[in-house]
Amino acid sequence: MNKTDLMENSQPLYDKDQLLELEQAIDFATKAHAGQKRISGEPYISHPLAVADTLMSWGMDISSVIAGLLHDTIEDTSVTITEVENIFGHDVAFLVDGLTKVSKARANMQDLSNYLPMTKDNLSKLLIAVGQDIRVIIVKLADRLHNLETLQYLPKDRQLKVARESLEVFGPMADRLGMGRVRMEIEDLAFKYLDPVEYKRLKILMSKRLGRSTRKLGEIRSEIEQAFKKQNINAEVNGRVKSIYSLSKKLAKVNGNIDDIYDLMALRIVVDKKEDCYQILGLLHSLYKPMISRIKDYIATPKPNGYQSLHTTVITPNEQIVEFQIRTYDMHEFAERGLAASFHYHDQKTSKDYIKSRDVSSLPDSMQWITQLQAIVDKLKDGEEISKDQLNIDLFSNRIFVHSPKGDIYDLPEGALPLDFAYLVHSDIGGHAQGFRVNSKIHPFDKPLQNGDIVEVIINKLSKPKQAWKNLVTTTHARSKLQGQLKQSGVVGTITNAAAIIARKKK
Ligand code: MN
Repeated sequence: MNKTDLMENSQPLYDKDQLLELEQAIDFATKAHAGQKRISGEPYISHPLAVADTLMSWGMDISSVIAGLLHDTIEDTSVTITEVENIFGHDVAFLVDGLTKVSKARANMQDLSNYLPMTKDNLSKLLIAVGQDIRVIIVKLADRLHNLETLQYLPKDRQLKVARESLEVFGPMADRLGMGRVRMEIEDLAFKYLDPVEYKRLKILMSKRLGRSTRKLGEIRSEIEQAFKKQNINAEVNGRVKSIYSLSKKLAKVNGNIDDIYDLMALRIVVDKKEDCYQILGLLHSLYKPMISRIKDYIATPKPNGYQSLHTTVITPNEQIVEFQIRTYDMHEFAERGLAASFHYHDQKTSKDYIKSRDVSSLPDSMQWITQLQAIVDKLKDGEEISKDQLNIDLFSNRIFVHSPKGDIYDLPEGALPLDFAYLVHSDIGGHAQGFRVNSKIHPFDKPLQNGDIVEVIINKLSKPKQAWKNLVTTTHARSKLQGQLKQSGVVGTITNAAAIIARKKK
């Protein structure tokens, strides 16, 4: 990647002023990194250019692209953040500053002799950077992707570190942002370095299997395309192949037998409207026998990261098992690009609203977990202690969706308890909770909620938060609200003092 290529790729995407700014940023970064080389021997600037190019291909706004160009200047050159701000403005400087923080956190990490993917300190820095603007993590993902693509030049031990960290931190991060394609790329690249033998074996296994099934799938494809035509449905049908890493994870679940994996290759059907998705599902089920337990409606109940699609697995008359994924173009766009799609240069509204206020309410509902992340960041800034466990729960574990009786959707971590829900709705509702009804049945305080539950909080205005509730909340949000309420009512002080006295007496 060089300046000419990058400018050429950017032509159709941004307006004249933005292109000028972009060119200025390329020249600025080139000058700053002059004389520096990557381990591959290439001039260093090839790296930021590649990162910027990736960000453009994801459709990111111009500030993110420029931040991608400048992401290594503060740490590796004599450029200062004030300089960046003076030339490129506050928004770009803010992002570059965030990226520098993340990168410093990573540098500390490499000093550790025992590899830890995230120490508390690193994680704090990472969160402070990210919690303020999620675009920082998107640029970071582009940076990581290029580092993985050029990993062959690093010494073996560093290859392994980068690969492991990518799999443990950056893959899940991309997943949380709904960036399915990026997650897949990161995981496959990393897996190739972590277990090259297994990677190669699976790749061969996969291509053998695919060779056999591609022809058969082709027949089914033309069969369904004809059926769509008859019904006047406009649909695009494509094959989608499972990634090597997800194949290896799936194989571990089915004791290594590839014959038990039905979605090695799936047919993806993309349509204009949501209603078409259901019509097609019905049509497929009239043509082939569905495996009932494998029908999934992620349109009505999206995955925690916002993914939407209908999935069904059918058995054809000649006993072939085929998975279909049915979705609209919008859903497809989100499944591939996730949160990055919100910052699309063509649709600058969300992006502008977000940049102006960094107000997460302008982000899609499925991304409201970022609000919680910002709450953590605020605490860290106040110097409050936060355990790594708390952070891990909120950030990287799977999420569930539950509903209020009115039908509002709330996003919680897996394993969340009813009080977590109550506090998420409102701290007053949490504080006055007397009991719960889940799906119309009385539900104990200590029983985790499930995806899709309808949760009703039974409120008693006279009821007060109790000390024992500390063991009945799991989210950082609920814990901190509860803590505040207990403190206010003086319970915490009393109990802690009493406990301290008892402890002292025992000695
Ligand atoms: Mn970099």
